[in-house]
Amino acid sequence: MALHYRTIGFVLKKNDIGEADRIFTVFTLDFGKVKISGKAIRKIASKLKGGIDVISLSEIEFIQGKAYKTLTDSVILDKFENIKKSLTKLKISYKIAKSLDNLLRIEEKDENLWRLLKEVFGKLDNWEQEKKSWKLQIVYYYFLWNFFSVLGYQPELYKCASCQKKLIASFLYFSAEEGGIVCPKCANGKKKINADVVKILRLILKKDWLILFKLKIQPTSWKLLKEVSEHYYSHLLSIHSFEEDFQKDNEPL
Ligand SMILES: [Zn+2]
Repeated sequence: MALHYRTIGFVLKKNDIGEADRIFTVFTLDFGKVKISGKAIRKIASKLKGGIDVISLSEIEFIQGKAYKTLTDSVILDKFENIKKSLTKLKISYKIAKSLDNLLRIEEKDENLWRLLKEVFGKLDNWEQEKKSWKLQIVYYYFLWNFFSVLGYQPELYKCASCQKKLIASFLYFSAEEGGIVCPKCANGKKKINADVVKILRLILKKDWLILFKLKIQPTSWKLLKEVSEHYYSHLLSIHSFEEDFQKDNEPL
């Protein structure tokens, strides 16, 4: 008889397969990122249907077959209803889910990442609607940079990442290759940033949410933060090897 496994997880993605099946990508507490097949889950009579959906926390039970996992039971623990009522929150949640799907390897358990996800989905869900919605974006950057850090790519923000010398506030550059802020001498055509962005990144990695929340961020700094985040993200994507995942993805379902 097949072994049944039970765990809880954040549902990141769903893909419809064939007539009524659906593959879920779930970041679980006990097994890390897994792909689980919901057999005939799109049929009206499916009992599994109500217990699992994208951007929710679910308790799931599955059996491990030779090539893939099959969902046998599911219960929604948190639907994150406030996230689903707000387009901005939903967009941020999908961006978070996508980065997890892109950068995480299959079946690597990570309790730090689990705590981070609990924190950011909780923040998004509880964020009061009347507060400025553009500020919500900080939750995404908070997630993203702490996620990089969990993956082992915490950027150097306190000295030049290349020559280790002290940084000067008016001459700051970011180098994805060097993994952090670099001085003008080491900049070599790298992106110029400003002291505000360095301050935001330091607060994000210190998880100083109280100060982050009160921070007044100028449009120029928002733009720089966005650019430097995208730049580091695509650099990390380019150096990650996904051959192993690729093979798993191509196993027959
Ligand atoms: Zn330097």
